[in-house]
Amino acid sequence: MLGYMKIHCNLRASIIAHSVLRYARRYTMKVKMLILSRDDQYHQLQELGLKIVDWIERLEGIKIEVAHEGEILADGRLSPYDICILCTAMSDLTEEQEEGIIDFVDDGKKLFGIHSATVVGEEHGRYIDLIGGRFVHHPPRHEFQVKIEDRNHPITKGIEDFKITDELYVLDRTPRGADILATALWEDKPQPLIYTKSEGRVFYNALGHDQSTHEHPVFKRLVIQGVLWAINSLRTKK
Ligand SMILES: [Zn+2]
Repeated sequence: MLGYMKIHCNLRASIIAHSVLRYARRYTMKVKMLILSRDDQYHQLQELGLKIVDWIERLEGIKIEVAHEGEILADGRLSPYDICILCTAMSDLTEEQEEGIIDFVDDGKKLFGIHSATVVGEEHGRYIDLIGGRFVHHPPRHEFQVKIEDRNHPITKGIEDFKITDELYVLDRTPRGADILATALWEDKPQPLIYTKSEGRVFYNALGHDQSTHEHPVFKRLVIQGVLWAINSLRTKK
């Protein structure tokens, strides 16, 4: 009987140890993130890419790489990464790169577009559909009020309506199937500024034209909470 109890207890202890180990592995598993940051004639987004690295590199369990060439998006080169941040305009997107981004999201990975990530040629319908819309125009840079539409989402949790001086991006459509987290009014019409879509695999934040936005504490918080949300939902899935 004692022998049986001992074996039974050892077995139980080993099952518990195994699940603790599995749990620990899941939570120490490194999430690999790629930031594609590029400057263009209107934006200095390489600098924003470095800022984002600085904001999030201290988060536990994340490994960040930065790239400046669009080739990284094509031919399966995104597959080692779990999260891809597009801190760049997409004006020179190629068909191969478009395909690469779509495959990446189809694999259940996370795509995070900032500001000019919706600046793309209209021939890239699949990418436009994925990111939620195509940039059409913006009124001159001015101060406007951002309205938080969903205060319970992890990305916007704890954030109140705020004012920011930025370009107010107007997209060519309302993003299909999106969970709109924040809007701003332009010509009496609420423009979706921050949203997630494609079952939470895509996250877009239209803010972020220049340094004054990049240094705005709420913009910074939205980026950090966005990355944390992506990491947590990837871990829950694994
Ligand atoms: Zn801009």
